[in-house]
Amino acid sequence: MKTLVCPHCATKVPQHASVCVGCGAEIVRGATRQERSAGGCVFALLVLAVSMVIVGMGPMPDPRDDASLFLVLKFIALVIIANVVGRLLMRWVRRSKLRFIRPYEHL
Ligand SMILES: [Zn+2]
Repeated sequence: MKTLVCPHCATKVPQHASVCVGCGAEIVRGATRQERSAGGCVFALLVLAVSMVIVGMGPMPDPRDDASLFLVLKFIALVIIANVVGRLLMRWVRRSKLRFIRPYEHL
């Protein structure tokens, strides 16, 4: 059976384990939940900023007009879509990464 070696404690860990048997480090394949949500947030802000610049260059609709309400709804939809895309992108970037994460590592 193939084994992994924990970089924290040098214990040999079975390949499909999710936690190091030596020190309890979490074995993460791909992006963590935090990384995915951070990726989604950053990407959403980026898309929002770019689309605001694009909209800002064109003529602004009258605030009393229905078009401005549609514009707000479009922005909301855009942010939600960008968030999902950002999460997928982050997952894709980290797809082949295998890491041992010890929660108290940075203390
Ligand atoms: Zn370990």
